[in-house]
Amino acid sequence: MSEKNIFEKIIDGELPCIKIYEDDHVLAFLDIHPVNPGHTLVIPKHSSTDIFDMPVEVYTRMHQTVHALAPQIMRAVQADGINIIMNNKAPAGQVVFHPHVHIVPRFIGDELQHWGGNEYASPNESATIAQQIINEINGATPMQ
Ligand code: AMP
Repeated sequence: MSEKNIFEKIIDGELPCIKIYEDDHVLAFLDIHPVNPGHTLVIPKHSSTDIFDMPVEVYTRMHQTVHALAPQIMRAVQADGINIIMNNKAPAGQVVFHPHVHIVPRFIGDELQHWGGNEYASPNESATIAQQIINEINGATPMQ
């Protein structure tokens, strides 16, 4: 069996965390390097890596928890806004390879930068990309 990652060790109680919520399915704890005070991670207890190998029930439960905790965190730290972020795979910034959602409180004037937007080179490029995605959707098993 491969070596447990940090979050698997936290789930199994082998590493500490500053827990804010736990039930049979999920665990929520403070990020050790917060972007802002109250920055929280919500993780499923189910063993998986990212969105691509998570059963939809596990993904849904994780996001139900995010939905419940976001307003509570918002009030607790008196934030002015909240970012919800999930990084999937290393090129997208994932460092810990167990699924997790970041709940990041935001404050007026905190000066965090959002990623910048680009332009499509042409209407043809955007139409082609949209069609490629639609083709994938049409070839997929219908959503339940
Ligand atoms: P990501 O880049 O989406 O994989 O984010 C991983 C996050 O896990 C980072 O924001 C880290 O600060 C956080 N992190 C790593 N180790 C711990 C830990 N032991 N306890 C809490 N948060 C952690």
